[in-house]
Formats: sequence, C-alpha cells, structure tokens
Amino acid sequence: MTVSLWQRSPTHTTEQCDVAIIGAGISGLSAALELESKGISCIVLEADYAGSKASGRNAGFLIRGAAENYANAAKTLGRDTTRFLWEWTQQNLVGLKQLGIESTPGYAQRPSCVLALGEPEHTELIESHRMMREDGMRCELIEQGDAPSDPIWRSGKPTIGLVNNEDAVCSPTELVGLLGASLCNTPIFEDAEVFRIEDDGNRIRLRTRAVDVVCSRVMICTNAYAAGLVSSLEGIITPNRGQMLAIRPRKKSDSKLEFAYYLNHGSEYVRSASDDQVIFGGCRTYHADHEATSADETSPEVQSHLEQFVRDLITTEYDITARWSGIMGFSPDGMPVIDRVPVHTLSNTNIWFCGGLTGHGMSMGYQTGRHAARVMLEGEHTRFGLDRFQSAR
Ligand SMILES: Cc1cc2nc3c(=O)[nH]c(=O)nc-3n(C[C@H](O)[C@H](O)[C@H](O)COP(=O)(O)OP(=O)(O)OC[C@H]3O[C@@H](n4cnc5c(N)ncnc54)[C@H](O)[C@@H]3O)c2cc1C
Repeated sequence: MTVSLWQRSPTHTTEQCDVAIIGAGISGLSAALELESKGISCIVLEADYAGSKASGRNAGFLIRGAAENYANAAKTLGRDTTRFLWEWTQQNLVGLKQLGIESTPGYAQRPSCVLALGEPEHTELIESHRMMREDGMRCELIEQGDAPSDPIWRSGKPTIGLVNNEDAVCSPTELVGLLGASLCNTPIFEDAEVFRIEDDGNRIRLRTRAVDVVCSRVMICTNAYAAGLVSSLEGIITPNRGQMLAIRPRKKSDSKLEFAYYLNHGSEYVRSASDDQVIFGGCRTYHADHEATSADETSPEVQSHLEQFVRDLITTEYDITARWSGIMGFSPDGMPVIDRVPVHTLSNTNIWFCGGLTGHGMSMGYQTGRHAARVMLEGEHTRFGLDRFQSAR
C-alpha cells in the first residue's frame, strides 16, 4: 500500500525509540513485553486495533503440542523437534500463568482431548500415547467405556481419545488485553498501518498515516500479512483462513463438553464457551483451495460443513449465535519463523520477523514473541530460523 501526501494526518508527528514492533497481536505484544522488561524503549504500531486479527478471532485453545498428533508430528518433524515443540507450548502456558491468565474471566483449566473417529488415527493415538510417555509427558488414553458422558462421546463416533490434563482454554481478546495491560512504558499506536519502511541515515523510519517512527531496530509481527512488507516472505508465510461457528444447543446439557476437542488430525476443534454456547472451528482442509486467502469472510461451503459436524457430534437442535473467520499465517513446517529479513532496497539489516505461528499462536505465541525479542537483542539461539527452509527451496 502507498499513502498520498494528502492522506497523511495534518497532525503528523515523528516518534523515536530503540525498537519498533509492527503488529499488535499476541506475537508483537509478547515481543514488546520482553523488550520492555530489558529496559528497551519500544513502540507498537498496529494497522487496526490490538487483537483485531487472528489473535482476537481464534478458538482460545491453550494446548500442549500442535494440531497433529505426536506420532505423526514426529514422522514429519523428527522426534527431537516434536518433543521440543511440545515442551515449548507447555512453557507458553507456564509463562501465561505467571502473567496472570488464570485471573481472566474466560480462562478455565480444561483438558484437551485429541479424538480418533476411526483408523488410522486410532492407531496413531495409541502410538502417540506410548511415545509421549516415553518422552516424559503425562497424558492418558480414554475409550468409550471410560469416557465422560458428554454429547461428543454419546454420539458414538469417537473410538479413542488422547487427553492432556494440563491444558486450558481462555478468551483470546482477554489474553490480548492482558498482554497490552502488562506493558507499562510501551505505547501502542492503533489505526497506524505501516505502509513503508525506509532508511533514515543509520536508523530506520517507519511511515504510517498519522505518525512516523524512527528507530534502530524493527520487529515485524504481522503474521499472515507478512509479505505485504517483506516480499521475500511470500511463499514462506502463507495466509490461510480459519472459520468458526458458535451455537447454543436448545438442550442446556448439550453445551457441556468435558474436554476441548481436536479431531481429524486437528482439522476440526470444538469446545464449550460462555453462556451455554459451543464453538466449532475448522473444515479448512476440505476446502483448501478457497481457504488459502486473506479475505476475512465466512463461506457457505465451510459453514455448512461445520454445521454438519455439529449435527453429527453434538445436537441437531441448536441456534446459531455467531459465525466468523480469521487469517492465520502458515509456515511450511507449522513452526514459527524468527529471523532477520531483507526489506526491498534497504541497507539496514536490523529488521526482524516473528510469525508463522500457523494454527498455534495461542499455544506458543507468548513464548515465541518473548524469545524473538531475545534472539534479536542478545543473539539467543533459535530453532526457528529461515535457514531450515533453504534446502527445500
Ligand atoms: C479461526 C482461528 C482459530 C484459531 N484457534 C487457535 C487456537 O485455539 N489455539 C491456538 O493456539 N491458535 C489458534 N489460532 C491461531 C492463532 O490465532 C494465531 O496463530 C495467532 O493469533 C497469531 O498471532 P500473531 O500476533 O502472530 O498474528 P495476528 O494476530 O494476525 O497479528 C498481526 C497483527 O499485525 C497487524 N498488521 C498487519 N499488517 C500491518 C502493517 N502493515 N502495519 C501495522 N500493523 C499490521 C494486523 O492488523 C494484526 O493485528 C487460530 C486462528 C484462527 C484464525
């Protein structure tokens, strides 16, 4: 995007700081918290409002691991990286608890349960359970006989479930609010889309309509919108839409789900929410061509697919209370990306990117944003560099 001379605010000002962060989602705000804790002066620039994109539109699962089960993840990522990723997400929740997530109204300690609706997932979950135990992680398998009597199990569809007892759920907007409120000295400029990054002598100038920020370093946390500012990330961070549906079952007891459920290799996810509602998300994988988009709108195909799942797994008697979508930034291996990035013709190399949290920004964004700040500041070792894709490109 460009902005004309006339479109710039008449009260245009220039601010100075050490690090400017672009994007006030979970990643950007978490990076800001880490920098602030180290006494670095920061400014956050947000195109819309804090939490306006994926960070405020997700399902609020704070789970250990990723959508895919442990055994399958180990096949694609390797056992060591999978164990690392599961531990990373565990630490994310520990960090959020230290920050005070448990005191937010929408937080609940709610075990997650990865469901198998048949083979091959049934066998994969048994294998995942074995491997996780071997790797020192607590988890348990449940089958129809010992499962809770909630609508999902009563539907008779699940054959087995892998339960992570320590997981939780929360309200995404409350999490963003907590992150923002935990910042003491870092201003967040909202409605401040960065439309250009320029050299400013030996510093960097970020241009928005209302304010210019001159800084020494930049952390770009724009996730799905990464390629808008950093064209070299095109094809590495790809926008993918996630859609959600909220329903209120007419029978109150149908809204009480014991666990936060993942099914079909994480393609679908469902949990109870406030006011006797149930939220159901996913179905992207069956409509992948249409859902590889940054258009924030629901589609009849995905929404009717979600409703089919509701009817099959929960109830046929419900009222729809909300439909929405959000745009995720996928990385090729589903793990975050943290690295220096070149920005058009700029000679300055102090521009960094943190994003690509795929479908797991709630479960790993806080930990990842804070880590990204330390990678930039202190050169902390990271496993999330862009070099891991070089052999594949
Ligand atoms: C439907 C759905 C369900 C999900 N469910 C879960 C879940 O249950 N658990 C889980 O762990 N994860 C889930 N996720 C994923 C999670 O929401 C994301 O991984 C996470 O929110 C990404 O955070 P972020 O800060 O990197 O990106 P975002 O939240 O997208 O933030 C990026 C910010 O950058 C801003 N921006 C973009 N361009 C510019 C610019 N040029 N100038 C200034 N600002 C700019 C945007 O406005 C935005 O606010 C889900 C996602 C979706 C869409």
